[in-house]
Amino acid sequence: MHFIVLLGVPGAGKGTQARRLSATLALPHISSGDLFRENLKQGTRIGHEAQKYLSRGELVPDEITIEMIEERLGRLDGAEGAILDGYPRTARQADALENMAGGIVRAAVHVEVPIERLVERMSGRRVCREQGHVYHIVHNPPSEQGICDVDDSELYQREDDKPETVRHRLRVYEERTAPLIDYYRERGVLVSVNGDQPIEAVTEKILSSLEQVATR
Ligand code: ADP
Ligand code: AMP
Repeated sequence: MHFIVLLGVPGAGKGTQARRLSATLALPHISSGDLFRENLKQGTRIGHEAQKYLSRGELVPDEITIEMIEERLGRLDGAEGAILDGYPRTARQADALENMAGGIVRAAVHVEVPIERLVERMSGRRVCREQGHVYHIVHNPPSEQGICDVDDSELYQREDDKPETVRHRLRVYEERTAPLIDYYRERGVLVSVNGDQPIEAVTEKILSSLEQVATR
């Protein structure tokens, strides 16, 4: 199994790019945030355990997160790998991924966006109830306001996209997740892409960077 890991601050565009890459590269998109939100909606044990962390913008403890991801990666239905969005977010999660039998991280793509863009990105983010499709009221609006283009479900604003929670999530990112940039640089699989350009341009840049990693 080979993985493409997307790194970057909350709101950098990881989910948006992961979905697009998933379609182009024919690899499943696995988002830990989406999986937690799905567990919350379904009222599972993991959902109950994760709830308070999500609403406060804290990381869910590693044991719970690793358990959930390993379970998901255990049923890839024959896919050769996956695009991971939002996982790993700690060194321990990265080690768990590295130690997974048969798994290798082919590339870690750091989507870089200046911090001053992020509150605007996250306050304009809207997500669909049914499948978590992501929009932005200005930069990537749905054709009909408040309705998902793909599955017609209602769009909502994430509770953790409030400015206070966003600021906290950025602090958590700096402390716990930013060190993974060096982690993957040391392993020779890091690529950095400017995420502060139109969505299509970011995707193009990621795809060409992935080709370079493949030939390194
Ligand atoms: P992440 O998964 O990194 O938290 P998202 O993919 O959910 O980020 O993107 C955050 C918000 O920014 C969403 O509303 C999305 O539509 C918007 N967005 C994503 N990429 C861009 C971009 N290149 N330019 C402008 N807005 C973007
Ligand atoms: P995201 O959708 O990636 O912005 O994630 C939303 C929330 O889910 C985060 O603020 C965390 O509370 C939780 N979460 C998602 N991925 C992880 C992870 N890899 N480790 C710990 N918590 C996570």
